[in-house]
Amino acid sequence: MTAVLSTPPTEAPARPIDLGPAVALSCRECGHRIDLGPFYACTECFGPLEVAYEFALTGIALRERIEAGPNNIWRYAPLLPVPSGVAQTPNMNPGGTKLIRADNLARELGMKRLWVKDDSGNPTHSFKDRVVAVALTAARELGFSVLACPSTGNLANAVAAAAARAGIRSVVLIPSDLEQQKILTTAAYGGTLVAVDGNYDDINRLAGQIAAEREDWAFVNVNVRPYYAEGSKTLGFEVAEQLGWRLPEQVVIPIASGAQLVKVDKGFTELGTLGLVEPTPYKVFGAQATGCSPVSAAFKAGHDTVLPVRPNTVAKSLAIGNPADGPYVLDVTRRTGGAVEDVSDDEIVDSIKLLARTEGIFAETAGGVTVAVLRKLLATGQLDPEAETVVFNTGDGLKTLDAIAHAVGPTATIAPTLAAFEEAGLA
Ligand SMILES: *Cc1c(COP(=O)(O)O)cnc(C)c1O
Ligand SMILES: [Zn+2]
Repeated sequence: MTAVLSTPPTEAPARPIDLGPAVALSCRECGHRIDLGPFYACTECFGPLEVAYEFALTGIALRERIEAGPNNIWRYAPLLPVPSGVAQTPNMNPGGTKLIRADNLARELGMKRLWVKDDSGNPTHSFKDRVVAVALTAARELGFSVLACPSTGNLANAVAAAAARAGIRSVVLIPSDLEQQKILTTAAYGGTLVAVDGNYDDINRLAGQIAAEREDWAFVNVNVRPYYAEGSKTLGFEVAEQLGWRLPEQVVIPIASGAQLVKVDKGFTELGTLGLVEPTPYKVFGAQATGCSPVSAAFKAGHDTVLPVRPNTVAKSLAIGNPADGPYVLDVTRRTGGAVEDVSDDEIVDSIKLLARTEGIFAETAGGVTVAVLRKLLATGQLDPEAETVVFNTGDGLKTLDAIAHAVGPTATIAPTLAAFEEAGLA
């Protein structure tokens, strides 16, 4: 990400900014605090900013408030940078996705207690609806009138749909070689869709430049990134609540920019601090495709910075060669006793099939990455097969059909006669 500071929208809201429990932005590097606004880089050191809170509710009172809330991410509004009336605003109401007990897969892998958090159940079929819903809400409160993003695919869907529901314009930049399914579905929601001849990292740089020019465009993952990123905490909140207000012992999470992994850890930590769960230890594992594995490479080399790479993998939704949250992923995985691993495209496709065959869950390539990394971590003894484990499926396999087209197909193709059926030897 470029260290460009965005300026406030020209039509700044007349009333004070109300983002619920959010009180300021603070630098993740030097701790410098600034007022809430459309900022993402520290004025002192150019480090990334994150949302700072003063939570009004804790313990039983907070738990009761959450449990009385809607079955979507807004039940966690007291822990997010959103106004308290957010559930009444026009938005996609994402979240409330299933935590599926995966006994068949566990048996096949020799594990005891395994769960799949299936975020393909979101409105546009990926976890990105969570982060976009929070970014949209904050962007409107900050006075922006256009929702924009550079995207690896799923974000394009989520931004275009959320803007359509909210009745505002969207501007989406995607690599021109993206999966057809993601291009066409995004286009169907309307809005401006720009296919760029370049990879995600080129597009992200371009978005930073456009954001500096277009003061009323909220690029969800650029100039309102601190708010956007907080949406990923809701994945952690949901897992803990669905387990009966406790933390799992191990989680396996895919890495693109790394924000999701870092914020799930932040969510788990907040729940412990606020007295909603026992602060029991957990290990966070990160998953990448070998064709785009800068964080895994840094983890294995013992580095605490990440060297950018040029992505080449079927897991396009994770194909960020210069991940903004890379160093923080290294922090979280090392601090919790986890690891980062990477897997080949063949292993990804094989694991998509394994998850579908054992649990009836058809994941996109990113889900194939997490399941394949789970297998590799087990095989290398880095993950405990006895410990309760949650793996994340963050997207829907219908969006990445090309990735598996060579590997699956009909058992037989026959003429419409009983004789042909019997000859095919299917009985
Ligand atoms: C974007 C994305 C991720 C990871 O996002 P981060 O940038 O690491 O927060 C994971 N899975 C899918 C399917 C995605 O689209
Ligand atoms: Zn700073």
